[in-house]
Amino acid sequence: MIATLKEKIGDENISQKEIDKISYSSDASRVRGIADSIVWPRTLNDVRTVISYAKRHRINVVPRGAGTGLAGGAVPQNSIVMDMGRMNRFAVKDDKAIVEPGAVLDDINSVSEFVLPVEPGSHSVCTVGGMIATNAAGMRALKYGKMIDWIDELHVIDGNGRLIKAKGEKIKDFCGLEGTTGVVVRARLKLAKLPQKRSTSIFSYDAITPLVEKFNSLKKENVLAMEFIDKYCSRLIGLGDSNHLLVEYEGDEGSIKDEESRKVWKARDGLYASISSKGYIIAEDPQIPLESIDKFLYWLQKNDVPTFGHIGIGVVHPHFKKDSKLVEEMFAVVKKLKGSVSGEHGIGLLKKPYVGQEFIDRVKALKAVYDPNNVLNGGKVI
Ligand SMILES: Cc1cc2nc3c(=O)[nH]c(=O)nc-3n(C[C@H](O)[C@H](O)[C@H](O)COP(=O)(O)OP(=O)(O)OC[C@H]3O[C@@H](n4cnc5c(N)ncnc54)[C@H](O)[C@@H]3O)c2cc1C
Repeated sequence: MIATLKEKIGDENISQKEIDKISYSSDASRVRGIADSIVWPRTLNDVRTVISYAKRHRINVVPRGAGTGLAGGAVPQNSIVMDMGRMNRFAVKDDKAIVEPGAVLDDINSVSEFVLPVEPGSHSVCTVGGMIATNAAGMRALKYGKMIDWIDELHVIDGNGRLIKAKGEKIKDFCGLEGTTGVVVRARLKLAKLPQKRSTSIFSYDAITPLVEKFNSLKKENVLAMEFIDKYCSRLIGLGDSNHLLVEYEGDEGSIKDEESRKVWKARDGLYASISSKGYIIAEDPQIPLESIDKFLYWLQKNDVPTFGHIGIGVVHPHFKKDSKLVEEMFAVVKKLKGSVSGEHGIGLLKKPYVGQEFIDRVKALKAVYDPNNVLNGGKVI
C-alpha cells in the first residue's frame, strides 16, 4: 500500500524501518505510541499528497517538529508521523520573517538583530511549526506574550487537503490546536529587537507570602521576565535554600549585569534537565489567575512538589515522579482556582481528561470544518 506514496514523494522521504518507527514512537513526554511509517515532506505538495493518501486509506497523520512537546502531542497511534524537519527554510527581512515549519527557533534568531522573542526552554531545537501548534510561550512571555501574538499569516493544509491562508481571527483555528485542524506549511512572523541592555535581580524568601507581595509590587513596564524558583529547584542550581524570584529588567535596574546576568538565565534554562535527572520526569504547566497564585504555590509547597516557572504570567511547572497520584489532586486544585490545565505545553494525550466542555465543543466544531474524517492527529486534545 505504502508503495504508491513512495512513488509520489520519493523513496528517500519515507521509511517503515523498525529503527525509525521506534525513534518516532515517542516525544519529550515519554509516552510511547506506535508509528506506522515516517514521512519527511519537502514541499507543500508533499504534505498534501500524504494527507490525501491518509484520508483515502483511513490512516492517522501526526505532524511533528522536534518532538520536544511535553504533553504527548506528537506521539503516534498507529499513525504516519510527518516530520517537518526537511521543510526548514526561512528568510528574515527587517522585522518580518517568512518561515517553513521545520525551521528551528535559534536558527531564525541567529541571523539578525530582529528576533522572534517567544523563547521556550527548548529554543535550541524546537521548531516554529511546533511552537505555532502549541501556542508556545516562555520566560519572556510577560513582555512578549505567546506565539499567537507574533503571527501575521499562516498557511496550512487541512484534513481535506485544502491550502488555507489564515490571517487575523482565523489564525486561532490553527494556532494552539496541536496539529488537529491543519498542518502548518508556512508562516509570516513579526520579529522584534531585544533591548541591548538587560540586567537581573534575584530576590530570596523563606516563605511564599513575601515573595508574592514582591512579585505584585514589581509588575512594571521595564520587566522582561519574572521566574519563580522554589527551594528544591533553587538548591539544584546553587541558589541556596530559599524560594527565589528572578527578575530580568530592560536596562540596568537589576544588580546583576552582562555576563553574570546571562549565567543566571542559563542556569534557569538548565532546570528541566536537572530536575528530570532526579526522577521528576512529569513537567506540568497549569496557568493560574494571578490573584490566586499564592494559594497554588502554598499547595505545591505543602505537598513537596518541586516547582519553577513563569510566575509573571501565572504559568508554573510543578514536577512529579512517574505515576504520582498528586497530579490528579493538583488538577482539582487548578480547577478550584479557576485556572487552566495547560498554559503553554498543550493538551496532547496527557491532559485530555482535564479539559472543559467548552474547549471540547470548540475543537469538535473546528474538526467538522477542517478535518471531518479525523485524519489529523486524531485522539489528541479531545
Ligand atoms: C526542556 C524543555 C523546555 C521547554 N520549555 C517550554 C517553554 O518554556 N514554553 C513552552 O511553551 N514550551 C516549552 N516546552 C515544550 C515544547 O518545547 C514546546 O511546546 C515547543 O514549541 C514544541 O516544538 P517542537 O518542534 O518540539 O514540536 P513537537 O513536540 O514536535 O510537536 C508539538 C505539537 O505540535 C504539533 N506540530 C508540530 N509541527 C506541526 C506543524 N508543522 N503543523 C501542525 N502541527 C504541528 C505536533 O503534532 C504536536 O501536537 C519545553 C520542552 C522541553 C523539553
